[in-house]
Amino acid sequence: LERVDLAVVGAGAVGLAVAARLASPERTVVVLEEHRRYGVETSSRNSEVIHSGLYYPAGSLKSRLCHEGRRRLYALSGEGAFFARRTGKLVVAVDDAETGRLEALRRGAESAGASGLEMLGGGEARSRAPGLRVSSALWCPETGILDSEELMSFLHRKAESLGAIFLFGSPLLRVSPRGDGYELAFGPSNETLLARAVVNSAGLRSDRVAGMAGIDVEEAGYRLRWCKGSYFRLRRDLPLKHLIYPLPESHGLGVHLTLDRRGGVRLGPDAEFTESLDYGVDPARAQAFAEAASRYFPGLEASDLLPDTAGIRPRLKRRGEGGFADFVIAEESGRGLPNWVNLIGIESPGLTACLAIADRAAELLGQ
Ligand SMILES: Cc1cc2nc3c(=O)[nH]c(=O)nc-3n(C[C@H](O)[C@H](O)[C@H](O)COP(=O)(O)OP(=O)(O)OC[C@H]3O[C@@H](n4cnc5c(N)ncnc54)[C@H](O)[C@@H]3O)c2cc1C
Repeated sequence: LERVDLAVVGAGAVGLAVAARLASPERTVVVLEEHRRYGVETSSRNSEVIHSGLYYPAGSLKSRLCHEGRRRLYALSGEGAFFARRTGKLVVAVDDAETGRLEALRRGAESAGASGLEMLGGGEARSRAPGLRVSSALWCPETGILDSEELMSFLHRKAESLGAIFLFGSPLLRVSPRGDGYELAFGPSNETLLARAVVNSAGLRSDRVAGMAGIDVEEAGYRLRWCKGSYFRLRRDLPLKHLIYPLPESHGLGVHLTLDRRGGVRLGPDAEFTESLDYGVDPARAQAFAEAASRYFPGLEASDLLPDTAGIRPRLKRRGEGGFADFVIAEESGRGLPNWVNLIGIESPGLTACLAIADRAAELLGQ
């Protein structure tokens, strides 16, 4: 049986960051990835926004790791590792009632460590984003965008240069805990290896992988529900320099306007619970997207929009359950699985936080 020090299950941004953090000439790290390439699921199907930590309760993992991860991403990007840019964002209130909610959002965000926030009047907001319908806005200077493919390519190269071995086309199929680690059987030809430690960063299927190790997923509260978010792309250019967000909704941040590095504008994502990994975007939704964005950006028509990508959130709460669900980042000695680390429910801001999540996983493994 091939023995390794660490197996990482899943090569999205988080698994790549874990491999880049933990690979070393003294430690054999193997990454098992079901697809033939890294990052083809959620890590390449998102808004590519570096979040400034507005929405998460003070002290939560989402809050702390978002702040820490963002600082690390900007620092690395400053050294030329990948593209990122502080664009700033405006969260828009369209009337007095929304201004009250915006104030509350600002107070909560500041107490959770967001910095540089500023309330703007409608005139000032319009001067920063011409064409907005806005009564007041929250200016968030630390928000930015990144190129997720470049980030992942950087992490992949770094992990490989430190000796990590990537086994693509290798879905984990079975786990047998043994005294000295975990026997992992993986496809396509049912090979096995023995890993002293395992990090489960299997994204949308991280609950199933936890189940393979023998965890009662329902009882542990690890069961994921999939919540799809579709995007449309604007056919025409808008003179936008900043990201524009409405106030958040119960299952997402609301249909927002984001920019890519070439200045293209995307609208999305919406939120729709689903049971299948179907990433198709229904062109008929253009109308609803145009209406949602027209509340704060009047004049957008369905005919301005082209269907773009969709992504699926690994969500720990079902519709109607409400409340806040934090990332699960857990070493499972308490469940009889020493040196097994579960990373579950890594939805937004998981891309922003990926480097900090990797540090946390390393700490839990005593590294
Ligand atoms: C619509 C949407 C918008 C978002 N916007 C943002 C944003 O703007 N900013 C931000 O910070 N975050 C955002 N996020 C969140 C962010 O994209 C995720 O938190 C992050 O990409 C999660 O990375 P991951 O590596 O955990 O998961 P993934 O990228 O899903 O990677 C998991 C990998 O595990 C593999 N895998 C699964 N099962 C197995 C198995 N049995 N064996 C082997 N491999 C397996 C999969 O194939 C996959 O490659 C958004 C998410 C969505 C859905």
